[in-house]
Amino acid sequence: MTEFHYSVDADGVATITWDIPNKSMNVLSMEGLRELDAHIDSALADEAVKGVIITSGKPDFAGGMDLNVIAKMKEMAGDTPEKGLFDGLMSMHVVLRKIERAGMDPKTLKGGKPIVAALPGTALGIGLEIPLACHRIIAADNPKAKIGLPEIMVGIFPGAGGTTRLARKLGAMGAAPFLLEGKLSEPKKAKSAGIIDEVVPGDELLARAKAWVLEAKDADLVKPWDAKGYKMPGGAPYHPAGFMTFVGASAMINGKTQGVYPAAKALLSAVYEGAMVPFDTALKIEARWFTHVLMNPSSGAMIRSLFINKEALEKGANRPEVGDEKVAKLGVLGAGMMGAGIAYVAANAGIEVALIDAKQEAAEQGKSYSEGILDKGMKRGKVTEAKKAEVLGRILPTTDYSALQGCDLVVEAVFEDPKVKAEVTAKAEAAIPEDAIFATNTSTLPISDLAKASARPEQFIGIHFFSPVDKMLLVEIIRGKETGDRAVAKALDFVRQIRKTPIVVNDARFFYANRCIIPYLNEGMRMVREGVAPALVENAARLIGMPLGPLQLVDETSLDLGAKIAKATRAAMGDAYPDGDVDEIVFWMVEEGRLGRKAGAGFYAYDDKGKRQGLWTGLGEKFPPADDQPDLITVQHRLMFAQALEAVRALEEGVLTDIREGDVGAILGWGFAPWSGGPFSWLDMLGAGFAIEVCDDLEARFGARFRAPEMLREMAAQERGFYLIREASAA
Ligand code: NAD
Repeated sequence: MTEFHYSVDADGVATITWDIPNKSMNVLSMEGLRELDAHIDSALADEAVKGVIITSGKPDFAGGMDLNVIAKMKEMAGDTPEKGLFDGLMSMHVVLRKIERAGMDPKTLKGGKPIVAALPGTALGIGLEIPLACHRIIAADNPKAKIGLPEIMVGIFPGAGGTTRLARKLGAMGAAPFLLEGKLSEPKKAKSAGIIDEVVPGDELLARAKAWVLEAKDADLVKPWDAKGYKMPGGAPYHPAGFMTFVGASAMINGKTQGVYPAAKALLSAVYEGAMVPFDTALKIEARWFTHVLMNPSSGAMIRSLFINKEALEKGANRPEVGDEKVAKLGVLGAGMMGAGIAYVAANAGIEVALIDAKQEAAEQGKSYSEGILDKGMKRGKVTEAKKAEVLGRILPTTDYSALQGCDLVVEAVFEDPKVKAEVTAKAEAAIPEDAIFATNTSTLPISDLAKASARPEQFIGIHFFSPVDKMLLVEIIRGKETGDRAVAKALDFVRQIRKTPIVVNDARFFYANRCIIPYLNEGMRMVREGVAPALVENAARLIGMPLGPLQLVDETSLDLGAKIAKATRAAMGDAYPDGDVDEIVFWMVEEGRLGRKAGAGFYAYDDKGKRQGLWTGLGEKFPPADDQPDLITVQHRLMFAQALEAVRALEEGVLTDIREGDVGAILGWGFAPWSGGPFSWLDMLGAGFAIEVCDDLEARFGARFRAPEMLREMAAQERGFYLIREASAA
């Protein structure tokens, strides 16, 4: 397959055009790299060629490296993967360095051929690393284009020289937001940051690139780091200013990542160590650190879950084969916190919304929630007056069910009460077309029970949003016993329209996400009740990469909600109810009026403005910490296995049918330590054999809830993991 095209015009300017057939976006493959290399060789060898433009045949330049390739690099690297990876990276550096030196005399730095990158649009990852090796980067003035190095977001870092080149171009401080946070900018901002050199109108891009090639002088081709006397902007590590930057960056990274994301630390090490040696040695150092990151199972697991599988689910990996079910008009019942959020995300995606509540005032208030979000967007310059009017114009707040006429999907988000839900289901079904799909946003009631109120249970489904709806990326779709394929397809198409990530699960208590998060919260509270210091519980969670400790998360979701769920679960489960010991602490907190953040008092203390202060000291008086505290690993294992074992049970019971959904859903739904790639990836990393050992130990010390599921035991016996089995069965 030809990915790069080569041509030379009458003025001796060669153009290398990146244009992968049948793809909307260029991504670099190893084959592509070989083609680019060969074209550069041709241009440098051909005396008639004066210089080169590297550009794209598509509206964008490139989206980056093919992450499928990166995910497999380690496996493809042979018996000594470290060496294979390192050699592979160094061969990439050779190509980019060839572009950068462009045939110039290594001593005089004269006689090279100018090579310019002309970017029509988005240039990400290696799509920016190649331009950074060119002598000039000219971009089209395209405000929709994104320029940057987002690798850190999927657990790696720019490893094709981007780290070393950007740090040398901007200095460590200047490059930090782009390298460490993966910040993306539109072309004009990228120019003011110093990442690119020039922004021109789109229709002048190639002409301007050509003019630059024809007028470039020898000195224009020499990168600052190749010139004599180069000093890193802002100072190298032993310069007083540079010293402060690196000390600060190191502290900041450890604070933000708690040390569990190997890529951030490795990136900083590559920049720090690279800054003290000549450029070519720095590239070697970068390649060593990049190899180190690729050898860590975290990078592969993050790429797999956060990129490859997330995208597969968004594109409908588990969608039944049913025709297009895009939503044209949505009905939302209940304009409270959830209903208002659902109405906003739908209207924002171009869908007409009838927003119904029992009182007109409540419906209007639900609509004003959208207004609030749009106003905030306007203040930040992200939303125009026209866009605001357009989105608000799509939401009709009313009490009149006849407004549901013409809706092809209804999402119900009224009170969590089966009677109220049954009533609105019947009223809505009387107004909507016969073939419309009816969804409930319940978080705790079985879908199959609620479906009994429906005249068309095969068109009844759960679409479970997380709060706040406009921010949370996951939507859980729940198949009831009688739910048909068309309802699933409708829910998936809707989730795709509103640009969120779906997982499809079967109906069981708390579905998937809440089922796994509740044991995490309970284990945290149980430990406090046992006398484990609350600070140990919270810090142990953060140190293993959970975004919030269990006590903080209980405060966020509120203790009265916890008490309500506990009562309902106890009523439903009777003697089998496992969490009586946790209820003691929950109900006591509720009695004390410490309902969490919303009450300004919970496991944490809050100031007048609602800002979280330290852990509440009264907790220690009621549940005094024991003299003997457990070690950190025990606390972490209890918190992690509480979630992960529940995920395995959900799979065993057929609530989950796809581990990819289990992993992606865990990270996006409740923040399961993202560095691990999700609970199934985490168990694979531990190895089933070791996981069983830990479970056996935890079960003996803390109870049957840690009993290893049979599925895990079988895996340990076969020495296999979840993903190995999945890949084998997929093959
Ligand atoms: P809420 O109390 O904020 O809103 C419920 C709304 O429904 C209110 O505006 C109320 O006036 C309206 N309502 C009640 N009876 C009605 C009727 N007969 N006809 C029309 N409107 C009626 O509740 P919420 O937090 O938005 O939760 C709504 C649903 O979403 C519940 O089923 C809840 O379990 C579920 N849910 C909540 C969350 C969450 O974090 N709050 C998350 C996921 C799912």
